[in-house]
Amino acid sequence: ELAGWQRDLRRQFPIVTGHPGLAYLDSAATSQKPQAVLDAVHAYLTTTNANAGRGTYPWANETTRMVERTRRRVKDFLGDPDPDRSSVHFTSGTTEGLRIIARDWLTTHLADGDEIFVPFTDHRANLDPWREAQALLAARGVRVQVRALPVQAESFDYDHRALAALVGPRTRFVAATHVHHVYGGDMNVQRIRAAVGPDVPICLDAAQSVGHQPIRLGPGGLDVDFVVFSGHKALALPGTGAIWARGARGPALRPGGWPGTPNTVGIASLAAALDWLDAAGPERIADWTTALATRLTDRLRHLPAYEILGCQASLGADTALPPQQRRRGIVSLRHRGIPSDDLGFVLFSHGFMVRADSLCQSGADDRAVVRVSLHVYNTEEEVERLAGVLATLS
Ligand code: PMP
Repeated sequence: ELAGWQRDLRRQFPIVTGHPGLAYLDSAATSQKPQAVLDAVHAYLTTTNANAGRGTYPWANETTRMVERTRRRVKDFLGDPDPDRSSVHFTSGTTEGLRIIARDWLTTHLADGDEIFVPFTDHRANLDPWREAQALLAARGVRVQVRALPVQAESFDYDHRALAALVGPRTRFVAATHVHHVYGGDMNVQRIRAAVGPDVPICLDAAQSVGHQPIRLGPGGLDVDFVVFSGHKALALPGTGAIWARGARGPALRPGGWPGTPNTVGIASLAAALDWLDAAGPERIADWTTALATRLTDRLRHLPAYEILGCQASLGADTALPPQQRRRGIVSLRHRGIPSDDLGFVLFSHGFMVRADSLCQSGADDRAVVRVSLHVYNTEEEVERLAGVLATLS
C-alpha cells in the first residue's frame, strides 16, 4: 500500500523520472521539486509577478496577498496552535535564519553574566551564529557564556537529564537541532522544555525535519519559541526558507514591513511545496524514508568494512524504541579502507549521487563521510542496488 502511494508520488518529480539510470541520494543537501511546485512558479511568473508590499495595481496587491497567505500557510503546516500571535519571516534558508535570530534577537536579549546552551556537534550553521553573537556582545562589554548542550554517548540524542542539572538562573536561551544532519537521529527535543523550564526560549534548527515528518508545535508537541528551516530542503526553490517565532518573542522583523524585495518566486514555491507535502502526508513520508534508511543500515551492519555513524540505538527493526528515537532518512558511513571522497566517486560511477565530505559538522570529528539521504521519491530498489554495490567493495 505504501509502495503504491510512493510510486504515484515519485512520478511527480520530473528530474527523477527523467534520469532513470541515476539515483539522487542527497536530499539532506537540497530536495528535488515536484511538478506542482514547478507549475506554481510558472503560474506566478506568468500571471501576477510584481513586487510585494507596494503598488496600487492588482499584480502588486496579489503578490502581497500571496506572501501573507504563505506566512499563514507556514504556520498551519507547523501545526501552530496560536497563529494570530506568531510571526513568520522569510529567509534564504536555515543558515540565514539562525543568523538573523542570533544577530537581531539574541544580542538584544542577553545581559552580562547570562549563559546559553547550543549544540557543539551539530551543523555549523547552528553554532557559528551564537559564537558571533557572543563576540558582538563582548565588544560591548557584555560577557555571555556559550555552553555545550549535552549529548548522550551511544544514541547522540540530547541528554535532557544532564541539561536539567546544568541549567541555572542565568540560562537565557537554548539552541537545538530537530534531526541530526549526519547521524539522522531525531534528537528528542521534546524533552528540552521540561529540562529548562517554561521561560527559557528554545530555538529549533528544523532543516532536516520540516518536509520530512509531521511537525506539531505547542504544548504536547514541540514546545519551542523559534523554528528555522530551509524551504529548498522541503521541495521548494533554492534560496527559500523561513523563521517561525512564537508570539511576542519574535525576532525583530524588518522595520516598516517591506523595505526590501522578498523572494516572491521562492515564497510562491514554498506555498505549493507545503500544499504538496500536506496532501502526500508527512507521516507517511517519514515512515517511508525511515523504512528505507533502516533497510540500508540492516544491509550494511553485517559488513565489517563499513562504519555506520551515530544513532546506533535506533538501527534495525527494534520497534520497542519510542518513535522520537527512530532514525530518519539519513545514513552516514565510512569505509574502513577507502577514503570517503573516493567512495563518493565510485558510487557516482554506478549512478548514485551522495554527499562525500565532512558535512559542515561542528566538533572534533571532521573526517569526511559518505552520507546517503532519502526523500519520498527514493525507492527500495535504489537502496537495494546501493547496498549491493557497497557490498562488492567490502
Ligand atoms: N542546519 C542543518 C541541520 C542542516 O542540515 C543544514 C543544511 N545542510 C543547515 C542547517 C543549513 O541549511 P541551508 O544550507 O539551507 O542554510
